[in-house]
Amino acid sequence: MNIILLAPPAAGKGTQAELLVEKYHLNHISTGDLFREVASRGDEFGNKIKEILSSGSLVSDDIVLDIFRKYLETCENKNLLLDGFPRTWNQAELFNQLLQEKADKIDFVFLLNVSKETLKTRITGRRLCKECGSSYNVNIDSFKPKKDSICDKCGHELYQRADDNEESFEVRYQEYLTKTSPLIDYYREKNVLYEIDSEKTKEEVFADITSIIEKR
Ligand code: AMP
Repeated sequence: MNIILLAPPAAGKGTQAELLVEKYHLNHISTGDLFREVASRGDEFGNKIKEILSSGSLVSDDIVLDIFRKYLETCENKNLLLDGFPRTWNQAELFNQLLQEKADKIDFVFLLNVSKETLKTRITGRRLCKECGSSYNVNIDSFKPKKDSICDKCGHELYQRADDNEESFEVRYQEYLTKTSPLIDYYREKNVLYEIDSEKTKEEVFADITSIIEKR
């Protein structure tokens, strides 16, 4: 089973990905995580990626496709959960091609719909655990950590992503509208698109997604 989570920044892709991986044992590929790892290397290429990520712009297709293709070759679990890929028409086309070569296909594309105002609240309040990656939100009561800046799960320190600020958010949101949102029609035409109201709680969103998967 191959699933794509398509959504603007901070719509809940990462949160739903964690839950889906646990339930269906999928191979979670977050291109954002791949790039953050590259950015943390501190070499010349890493610094270039770091700059792009902080600005909120998308990484160019040639770099994304090269990294994605190489990473995919190393994956043993072929049931994919794609979080943050594809984000452009070219990326979607290449992914189709890669799947066709393996006689595989996309089963579900879940479009997580959230208003811009909600996204902004979520993004400026998001905090992540340095150690285990768990996500919290200081702007939403039910998502706050029990102790300020400390992960409930493993006790390590929380941090804020360099691109989780209003300025980068505006760029990321525009990038989504201009480059990623055309994929909505692209996948609708392929009859694999399912729209999900992601203003709801994470449990409700997860229930909506799994009920669609289970119906098939
Ligand atoms: P994310 O963690 O999905 O919010 O991604 C963080 C950042 O990584 C994005 O704002 C882009 O700069 C970069 N990025 C992640 N995935 C892609 C992609 N598929 N295409 C281009 N840039 C990407």
